[in-house]
Amino acid sequence: MIDESKYQELLNEIQGKASLVAVSKFKPSADIEALYHLGQRDFGENYVQELVGKATSLPSDIRWHFIGHLQSNKVKYIAPFVYLIHGVDSIRLLKEINKQALKNHRVIPILLQIHIASEESKFGLDEEEWQEIMEQVTLNPSDFAGVQIKGLMGMASFSPDQQVVAAEFKQLQDLFNRTQAALSPQHAVDVLSMGMSNDYQLAIDNGSNMIRIGSLIFGARS
Ligand SMILES: *Cc1c(COP(=O)(O)O)cnc(C)c1O
Repeated sequence: MIDESKYQELLNEIQGKASLVAVSKFKPSADIEALYHLGQRDFGENYVQELVGKATSLPSDIRWHFIGHLQSNKVKYIAPFVYLIHGVDSIRLLKEINKQALKNHRVIPILLQIHIASEESKFGLDEEEWQEIMEQVTLNPSDFAGVQIKGLMGMASFSPDQQVVAAEFKQLQDLFNRTQAALSPQHAVDVLSMGMSNDYQLAIDNGSNMIRIGSLIFGARS
């Protein structure tokens, strides 16, 4: 069941500041359809098989965001239709997306995932790996003709300390600004994807322009 009033409230709150990716992992297609009928078009999924299944049966004008950890050997399944891949966390994965994009005669927009949380368990590039990608992409642009680097994505620590979370978002915003400077004008770097149900306000305060919200709209995942 979706919470329609929460959804409308959220849209009003973020209007003009950030766009909304509705995170529908583990939720039935009926919930996605209900939100679709309210006008929502951007949906996020974490698992390749689940995404492919839903994309096959749901309206074709849905913009599917892949927000999970993507394994290189699974890129081929989503390459034909995915709208934005948020979790690119290695040069190897970036090259595989490039290859599959070219096979499908398209350019796939991606976000580089940066490790900002203190928790080791979360994925993402450290600053050195980010630097390495900036160099490779600018030195050998023709090797990356199938990908468009649209910006950065990150997940803050799961912490009740607002100052800790805000500092991590701030760090990502700084790196976003440096990414823009490093890659313009070849890549239109204009997406900073950060903020989830429990921290999206702090994320927006620190420069987020795309939030990924699941439980607030769809209810808790069981
Ligand atoms: C599940 C998930 C979300 C949504 O989380 P909620 O707390 O339910 O809003 C956002 N981003 C990523 C990467 C996720 O895996």
